Amino acid sequence: MKFVLATNNLGKIKEMREILPGLGIEFLTRADVGIDVEIEETGTTFKENALLKANAICALSGLPAIADDSGLMVDALGGAPGVYTSTFGGEGLSSAERCGYLLKKLSGVRDRNAKFVCMIVCVFPDGGVITAQGECVGEIADEPRGWRGFGYDPVFIANGYSKTMAELSPEEKNAISHRGAALRSFSILLKKRGMNGLIS
Ligand code: IMP
Repeated sequence: MKFVLATNNLGKIKEMREILPGLGIEFLTRADVGIDVEIEETGTTFKENALLKANAICALSGLPAIADDSGLMVDALGGAPGVYTSTFGGEGLSSAERCGYLLKKLSGVRDRNAKFVCMIVCVFPDGGVITAQGECVGEIADEPRGWRGFGYDPVFIANGYSKTMAELSPEEKNAISHRGAALRSFSILLKKRGMNGLIS
């Protein structure tokens, strides 16, 4: 069974492959199937954006496509950056610069509560759709720490932890992350679809 991952984010691809083993699925990347198109994320919700990406890649590849739309929601910023997490602070910044921008915005702010959200949408060539969401609740650190993971991991501390996500091993992060939670729900729904003879 072949699925295409509708993302070019190497951090997401690595984690999706780590979290979803043992399903008898071969995960192809967009590069593997020769799809090099820009998909505009014009949605206003994680689900809309994930659907846009999964629909486009399924239509172009003829294979089931799994999209991940995710982001960070910070209480003191009214839930921002949300669906705009990947461009927070402006186009062309590095992840370290985006973390720095976030820390600057929260400078002197005592409410550090935040959560990561991940929406997984899988679109099948027969029109079937599976959606699954996961969250990881925590807080924004005072300074970046750690080198693992990607994106905002150096400045996010999950509830119950003192280390940032970037200081955790991949196994530790995947066990508590928004992506881990969403993909575990997704795999249960995918197995149900398979049991109904609908995997194609
Ligand atoms: P999008 O889903 O392509 O809109 O991008 C989501 C953005 O959220 C990514 O570019 C990352 O900056 C951030 N993000 C999503 N998941 C994680 C994570 O697990 N760790 C750190 N940052 C993340």
